[in-house]
Formats: sequence, C-alpha cells, structure tokens
Amino acid sequence: MTQASNQAVLEAVAVTAGHGGKAILHGLDLRVHRGEVYALLGANGAGKTTTLSLFLGFIAPSAGHLRVNGADPVANPASARRHLAYIPENVALYEHLSARENVAYLLDLAGQPELDGTIDAALLAAGLAPAAHGQRVGRFSKGMRQKVAIALALAREVPALLLDEPTSGLDPQATAEFNRLLGVLRGRGVAILMVTHDLLSAADVADRIGFIGGGRLAEEVAATGPERFDVRALHRRYATVEAAS
Ligand code: ATP
Repeated sequence: MTQASNQAVLEAVAVTAGHGGKAILHGLDLRVHRGEVYALLGANGAGKTTTLSLFLGFIAPSAGHLRVNGADPVANPASARRHLAYIPENVALYEHLSARENVAYLLDLAGQPELDGTIDAALLAAGLAPAAHGQRVGRFSKGMRQKVAIALALAREVPALLLDEPTSGLDPQATAEFNRLLGVLRGRGVAILMVTHDLLSAADVADRIGFIGGGRLAEEVAATGPERFDVRALHRRYATVEAAS
C-alpha cells in the first residue's frame, strides 16, 4: 500500500442512513486512502451498495458526514462526482458505439474532452487489445465492458474509484486480469472501494477488507506479510458476520 500521506480520499464518519425512513447504516466509519484497495464485504442487504450511493450523493445520511477527496457529496454532489469513477455491476455503455467512441463520449460528458491519444492509451492500459478499440461494444463480454469503464476512469484521472460486485460472473482468468488492473490503478494512487461477495478476489487484491454487519463496520482486516490474508480465517469471520447481521 502506498499511503504516502495517509490521506483518506474516501471518508465516511459516523454515518447513519437508509431508505424511506428505514435505517440501514448506524454509525458507519470507513476510510479509503490514496493508493489503497479496500474490499467491503457483508451479507445481502447489509448496506454495501447503500454505502456507495452515499459517496455518489444519490442518498443523504441522516447523521454523520462523507467526503470524496475533500468534497461533500451532500452539499455538492457534482463536485464529489468529479473526483469519482463508478463501475456498477453491469457496466452500461452505448451499444452501437465503439469502445473508443464510448470513452470519448463519456469523457466529453464528464467535461473533459479528449486529448490526442489519451483514449487509445487508456484502453491499452486497461488491457483492451488495439483491434477491439474500434469495435462496437454491443457484443463485448462483461470483462471487456469493465475494461472500457476502467479505461474511462484512467482517462479521467480520478482520485477515487467505486466498484459494485465487479467480479461476479467473471471467470477466474478474467477475475485475475481485473485484479491486475486494480493494481495498475492503485499504482497511480487511486483510492479504490470495491463492494464484493468474492472473498478470494478480495484476498487477492485488497489492502484491507472490511465486513459490514449490523449497520456498521463489524470487522476490518489488513493485508500483512507474504500470505497477505488468512483466507480460511476470513471465511469464518465472513460467515459469522453474515449470521450475526
Ligand atoms: P447485496 O449484497 O444484496 O447487493 P447490499 O449490502 O449491497 O446487498 P443494499 O443494496 O445497500 O445492500 O441494501 C440495503 C437494504 O436497503 C436492503 O434491505 C434493500 O432492500 C434496501 N434498499 C436498497 N435500496 C433501496 C431503495 N432504493 N429503496 C428502498 N429500500 C432500498
């Protein structure tokens, strides 16, 4: 982990939030630093996607506060989103446009028109073969779509990336390739918050793993030593937190 300044890019402090008056999170504290991959695990309905929605400014907390690279997603959601890339479980792209055209269009929407060669460089860095850059995305696999979304995040040079269940439905090879890409982003100093049920992938790529349960962070484990994580112990914890929440 390259936490040079130990600066939290994504920060949730004592956050209470929910939907339609029903509280889902009760005092969530979570920080993701520059150059850190953080995997957030927890039972179905525990509030993982709700946490992402808070950072995106889609919902507001009833207590506590959030920051995205210093921006407040409640007071100024547009500013917070400028610092973020968000990759949902199923990446939505314009089917009739090519990979290159999708990135160009979405960059333009983000108010950052293309500089010469940026897009092809980003697509290449995201692992998309040059032959695919000009192909329509309509027939792209889930893994290829994610690469287009990652290329957009690379081209936008955002300090924070949010991912919702990125490896669900990916085969082991595509998962390994995806984890390698997260390593590239981490190397560029991006703070990455990944919601997942994929404990193996989390153990493979994350610097820290947090388990959400009972509306807060029930456990947090950091990678240490050459083995990084004890996956069996993590699995036991995961099952316990799931059962308790
Ligand atoms: P999963 O692993 O199943 O994706 P999760 O941890 O991401 O779960 P959330 O999607 O954050 O869970 O949902 C938390 C709770 O809030 C669930 O009970 C869900 O039904 C409820 N919820 C989520 N979105 C809304 C919404 N827009 N309106 C009402 N309730 C919602």
